[in-house]
Amino acid sequence: MIELNHINAGWLRTPVHPEITCHCLILREGDQFALVDAGIGVKDAEDPVGRLGQQLIDLAGFTFDADETAFRKLEQRGINPLRLGDIILTHADPDHAGGLADFPQARVHVSQEELDNVNTGHWRYVTANFAHGPKWTPRAINDAEFFGLPARRLPLGFSQDILLVPLFGHTQGHCGVAIPQGDRWFLHVGDAYYLKAELTDLHHPVDQLAAVRADDNEARLESLEHLRRIAREHAEVVTMCGYHDVTEWRAFTE
Ligand SMILES: [Zn+2]
Repeated sequence: MIELNHINAGWLRTPVHPEITCHCLILREGDQFALVDAGIGVKDAEDPVGRLGQQLIDLAGFTFDADETAFRKLEQRGINPLRLGDIILTHADPDHAGGLADFPQARVHVSQEELDNVNTGHWRYVTANFAHGPKWTPRAINDAEFFGLPARRLPLGFSQDILLVPLFGHTQGHCGVAIPQGDRWFLHVGDAYYLKAELTDLHHPVDQLAAVRADDNEARLESLEHLRRIAREHAEVVTMCGYHDVTEWRAFTE
């Protein structure tokens, strides 16, 4: 079975939300490894303003600490970061893709829609995150199903296939990542919700921020509604986490 390691790969700190996580996963089965999202990276910590610009740093509350990166957290677990073969990216925003440059050897699995959005030069992305030439491995075809949603298989060599689950809206190609756990599933929803409370509170105040940050707010709300349905109807077989909810991250790590 694929073992899940919850790590925080960076902190965002804003006056309203002083503790926002970058909750990534290290997947491990035997000597096979993969990373779900790449967090804020070592390269970002070396040159924050040069890579991200002061305006974005202030706006999103980026903080930089090389010890709080996926690269270091792999090392701390005895895994050589330069042997990491696969990164699965929910989407390419800078708080998720900053770490890509630390793993230039890794294949980067992402939806075709997200890669297209990156390649249009959309303002939300930080081009420095991709200057090293990531080994993009885009997925375009729905060839699986996840509790009523179309999904895309990622045959990475694990004993069971991981799925990219389109949860579009936050970005044009934003996806969740479903990791099989025997006959159960773990679903990393990325930024399809910011706070888990959005699953039960239809008018959570953070919804305003989520709406502003969405490429397609209607699609975002539709994706969120699917997650509410899955949480309601399949809680016994699907465990979820998001990327930014500190209370959720603490629950998985303490
Ligand atoms: Zn994010």
